Amino acid sequence: MNTQSDQAIRKLTFEVFRFNPEDAESGPHIDVFEINERPYMTLYMALNEIRETQDSSLQFDFACRSAICGSCGMLVNGRPVLGCRTLTGDLPETIRLHPLPAFKLIGDLSVDTGSWFREMAEHTEAWIHEQLAFDANAPEDRMSDDIAQAIYEGDRCIECGCCVASCGVANINKDFLAAAGLNRVARFMMDPRDGRDADQWFEVIAGQRGVFGCIGMMACADVCPKELPLLEVYAYLRRRTLGSKFARPCP
Ligand code: SF4
Ligand code: SF4
Repeated sequence: MNTQSDQAIRKLTFEVFRFNPEDAESGPHIDVFEINERPYMTLYMALNEIRETQDSSLQFDFACRSAICGSCGMLVNGRPVLGCRTLTGDLPETIRLHPLPAFKLIGDLSVDTGSWFREMAEHTEAWIHEQLAFDANAPEDRMSDDIAQAIYEGDRCIECGCCVASCGVANINKDFLAAAGLNRVARFMMDPRDGRDADQWFEVIAGQRGVFGCIGMMACADVCPKELPLLEVYAYLRRRTLGSKFARPCP
């Protein structure tokens, strides 16, 4: 069986978007870099090699290298992916890199996803709205396995922003909650400890900013690196928003 290490070394061409919005001299353009591919090379390894050997000013974000921190989302040949888990061996020899759209550009491939996610969390009040006064002697709240599992699924989101970048609506409406925001809402809606009533939830997610702003083409589900069950999330939210008794927690 052939492995990557058996294959002939390819020369990779990287066409990288460059722009520093803080620098009045800078304008958007593409820089071209060439490197030799190495076995099992990821985009993380390739970009580090370019920065170490060819251009130390190249900006991009990485932290964990394990598809956990959500820092390294970028457009690779037009598709939002995580750089750390994308093998160059799965890409053609010419690789075009752009920053994720829909987020504020910091520079080159680096974007500010943090401000977007903080604004979304504040708008949706993404925390448990406990209705009971705290009682240190009260017995522990119990939760069914199904509900706990559904909440765990929602919490697997790593806030990479790939779904937001892929979403046509989020790209033209900066207030749209997109898959990441709607998934967060569903996570708290399913949580029996959150005491918000139907009217309060309606205010959070109805309308064009929320679930009815979604046009349902599911690009978000195609690109989510954690394969969250976004289709089921939307079905759950729509049913809950319309007051259906058939709304079930997402699998
Ligand atoms: S289904 Fe389409 S419009 Fe709706 S959140 Fe996903 S990408 Fe955006
Ligand atoms: S829902 Fe998926 S694509 Fe969107 S931010 Fe979370 S992990 Fe990333």
